[in-house]
Amino acid sequence: MSIDFEREVQETTFYSPLEEFEETTVETEVRVDPLTGRTARVVTDNFLVSESPEISEEVLDDEGCFFCPGTVEEATPQYPDWVGTDRGKSGEATSFPNLNPYGAYSNVVALTEEHYVPIDEFTTQQFADGLCAALQYVRDVFDHDPDARFASVNMNFLPSAGSSLIHPHMQTLVDGRGTNEQRRVAEAARAFYDENDEVYWSELALQERGGDRYVAEIGNVHWLAPFAPTHHRHLVGVAAQIHSGVPEPRGDVAHDFAEGLVNVLSYYASLGLNSFNVAMFLERDDPALPPLLNVTARSVFDEHYWSDATFFTALHDEGVVDVAPEEYGDAAHDFF
Ligand SMILES: [Zn+2]
Repeated sequence: MSIDFEREVQETTFYSPLEEFEETTVETEVRVDPLTGRTARVVTDNFLVSESPEISEEVLDDEGCFFCPGTVEEATPQYPDWVGTDRGKSGEATSFPNLNPYGAYSNVVALTEEHYVPIDEFTTQQFADGLCAALQYVRDVFDHDPDARFASVNMNFLPSAGSSLIHPHMQTLVDGRGTNEQRRVAEAARAFYDENDEVYWSELALQERGGDRYVAEIGNVHWLAPFAPTHHRHLVGVAAQIHSGVPEPRGDVAHDFAEGLVNVLSYYASLGLNSFNVAMFLERDDPALPPLLNVTARSVFDEHYWSDATFFTALHDEGVVDVAPEEYGDAAHDFF
């Protein structure tokens, strides 16, 4: 079977002040995600990247931070009894319930001992330990509540990516519903699986390998630039052969994801980017939906940062990116 990549080029014509009011035609490419049908637009020059962002010392001050060592063990919430520990611990990472939960099961993983880590100084070990703490919690919830079916491991890094705190941390959400995008992906993946008797991402990796959107393979994880990205420099890691739902917290798959994530962040840093979002999608024991790790760049954080979450993001759920995935997928390849 073959996955179809549908695109449409729309043209608009006007008299441009940039061309001495000559008639000018500008093209916009609209792309359709082959799995879900979600659309994305490739619009050049709509993402500002500043050359050398300055973050003031004041913003980076660790005074009063609840996630710093010495406080994280004292001031953060403790798990209910069924988790079996008051807080989770894995290397530098400490996990605990989210004081402001987003659903039935919601935790936080303080990722590093350092209060501020520049985007290109995270280590594979730090992310492997962070994922370990998050995945252990997901497994504990799945054991505890048979109705909990969807899980995600997420990260906002720096205020321009939606974080209220500087200290690097992940957030896990587990419940019976998942989010809009999780459900959309899960339902489409299930339909694809039922129709073709294949996992969508296995087929996708097979078809994309060798092309500009195929970034790399690290152990069990394929890294790709999605044909219809949800946001700027969107890259996705998929453990296509893993059918057990939640990867072993201390296993190879979690480590492979961590290694790839560090490479993605090195690529972002090389462009002058310093802020990002992460969302790992997990579903309980569904062979159609292997673990997926989405990463996207966000507006460069500095004193006067500009939000890249426009009405398209907030109200239309439409991907708008300035660089086509063939271009940035190929460039990211050098960092793997
Ligand atoms: Zn801190």
